[in-house]
Amino acid sequence: MKEILGGIIRPFYGDIFMEKSKVVAQMRQLIQLLAKHNHAYYVMDEPSIEDSEYDQLFHQLKALEQQYPEWVQSDSPTNKVGGKALTKFETITHTVPMLSLGNVFNQEELFAFARRVEERLPNKKVQYDVELKFDGLAISLWYENGVLVRGVTRGDGETGEVITQNVKTIRNLPKVLSSDKVSVPSLLEVRGEVLMPKAGFEKLNAENEAKGEKTFANPRNAAAGSLRQLDPNIAASRPLAFYAYGIAQCEPANEITTMSGSLQWLTNFGFAIGERHFICDNIQEVQEKYEQINQERPNLSVEIDGMVIKVDDLKQQQQLGFLSREPRWATAYKFPAVAALTIVENIDWQVGRTGTLTPVARLNPVAVGGVTVSNVTLHNIGEIHRLDVRIGDTVSVYRSGDVIPKVEKVWPEFRPDDAIEVHLPEQCPVCSSPVVMPEGEALARCSGGLYCSAQRIEAIRHFVSRKAMDIEGLGDRWVESLLHLNLLKDVSDIYHLHEHRDELLGLEKMGEKSVQNLLDAIENSKKTTLASFIYALGIRGVGETTARMLANTFQTFEALRLADIEALKKTPDVGEITAEWIEDFFKATHNLEVVERLLAAGIHWDAPIAPTRQPLNGESWVLTGTLEQMTRDQATAMLQTLGARVSGSVSSKTKCVVAGAKAGSKLEKAAKLDIPVMDETAFLALMADYGLTL
Ligand code: NAD
Repeated sequence: MKEILGGIIRPFYGDIFMEKSKVVAQMRQLIQLLAKHNHAYYVMDEPSIEDSEYDQLFHQLKALEQQYPEWVQSDSPTNKVGGKALTKFETITHTVPMLSLGNVFNQEELFAFARRVEERLPNKKVQYDVELKFDGLAISLWYENGVLVRGVTRGDGETGEVITQNVKTIRNLPKVLSSDKVSVPSLLEVRGEVLMPKAGFEKLNAENEAKGEKTFANPRNAAAGSLRQLDPNIAASRPLAFYAYGIAQCEPANEITTMSGSLQWLTNFGFAIGERHFICDNIQEVQEKYEQINQERPNLSVEIDGMVIKVDDLKQQQQLGFLSREPRWATAYKFPAVAALTIVENIDWQVGRTGTLTPVARLNPVAVGGVTVSNVTLHNIGEIHRLDVRIGDTVSVYRSGDVIPKVEKVWPEFRPDDAIEVHLPEQCPVCSSPVVMPEGEALARCSGGLYCSAQRIEAIRHFVSRKAMDIEGLGDRWVESLLHLNLLKDVSDIYHLHEHRDELLGLEKMGEKSVQNLLDAIENSKKTTLASFIYALGIRGVGETTARMLANTFQTFEALRLADIEALKKTPDVGEITAEWIEDFFKATHNLEVVERLLAAGIHWDAPIAPTRQPLNGESWVLTGTLEQMTRDQATAMLQTLGARVSGSVSSKTKCVVAGAKAGSKLEKAAKLDIPVMDETAFLALMADYGLTL
């Protein structure tokens, strides 16, 4: 049952034998929903959901009705066509009803359609006429003695709206029939679709936007909205076009025996037909044409939502006949859904390489845009709240083009009583460290940066980088092999690698020399600075400069570890959020254990120069232009050692600008603000005065 329903309304349909009340309740719910969307689509010309979602609801109702035919509701839309005619127009009863079409969505369903057709036509060769399925508005056109006398909408299939004045404004539609090749019938009723070709639609929307007027969601709405205006001047001003796809009546009868022949015959009078049209000898060929058209779709001048497959032979069509709302001899083969409904089976939290926690909805697999979607990211807890999505909910999953699928909305109508609300976990699902999310931040993170295995690679990469512990040679290739051997559970294991020399030597392409070089680099890295060590820990928000500021402010690691938010905020460069991140890092006991292991392994540093001995303490300096006698890093390090901060822009707070060759706007700004400028030589001389040389 779940399969038949596309796996959507799970809680109700677990049992094969459902109680009548439940089935009927479900049917009523679907009927009401479909009626609501029909009104929006057919009467207001403003659909409130994607067509593919509508189709899914429709199919669910159909499947229920097939399973429980005895409980089919009398007002079910599965036996009806379209929407009610609008009372603002005169209405008329169609002589030949204007039906809808059945749908197929994949090769299997297409082949089943062909089987049903061919079983009813034993020993007959069946050819298929394959046309574009125009996504517009169906109309019927009456010609009496070659003159267009009436244009009528499909309405509910039985009764339509008379919109002759509007129809007459459609430029590519013959108002009087004439032909050199065939005689004009005394009565001709042509069926076809009114569309707004893509180019005209885009132009109309652009013009409306420029005028600050309403734009249309798609060409179908634009066409329907234009055609059903009481004032024909509006329709006349819109770029509408008519494409014929069939003949409902012709007197006297013509000699045509095939569907494809009828379309060609209509072109004699100047009717436009689709820009692609095929005759296929078998259903496999139809499938190939469908795939071809799906590819060519973006290049077509009109919007289509699939193909229409019709039995080509008109006699065979007659033999096949009709079901209540659709012919047996034709079906629509719709393009893959861009949106589909499914159930959220669970919501998991994934921890990214930088510790970000991302909620991922595990879905009952569903086909969207030609691929099966079973997971979809919900981005963050804010998005979960915005959507109000719960485990057990029915959701619309949307995908257009190559775009990653996303949950577009929740259908509260289908929410089961036992739906589960989702909260941000308090602990990391991977390492159990506390999860933190400072106010104002959208993303929650695991605070166990040094310990959490989800963040391991990123933590190691950062830890060994040049400005951190500077372990040359411990590149990604080594790291991957070491992780594979399970030798690096966290960064402190780096300092125990020498105990595994044999395993290292056993690694592919790792000779004695490279192993020794690596172990030497690790050993040498033990002598570092407090600032580099703080930076190496990878605390969120603590870059190289902030690490140096923290080292200068707190002087010892212990003092930093114990600092509260207020004390942290006194450090230049550290605001409320960074202070919180630092505090959170040291609150995670797993992180402290790793730090302890690192220190126990012998990492050490000289005491930093006390701020009282930092002559440039708190000053802001700017480096600009090309430095020729030293690198920017060297100049920065010297300034920072003396307590200065190196800033990227000149302001009134700037103490001094060091200008190299080709200095530009910063130099100009310094002159404007009267800020002292020195060249490289003067700078190096000043540094030497403070005892610093390159
Ligand atoms: P349909 O559009 O699936 O198929 C029938 C129609 O196809 C015909 O009436 C005709 O107008 C058209 N058509 C286009 N090219 C044709 C061709 N070459 N030959 C023959 N017919 C051709 O069925 P429908 O009953 O018109 O509309 C139902 C569809 O409308 C649904 O499947 C859904 O996609 C859409 N709809 C959407 C909403 C919504 O809220 N989004 C609401 C109601 C209906």
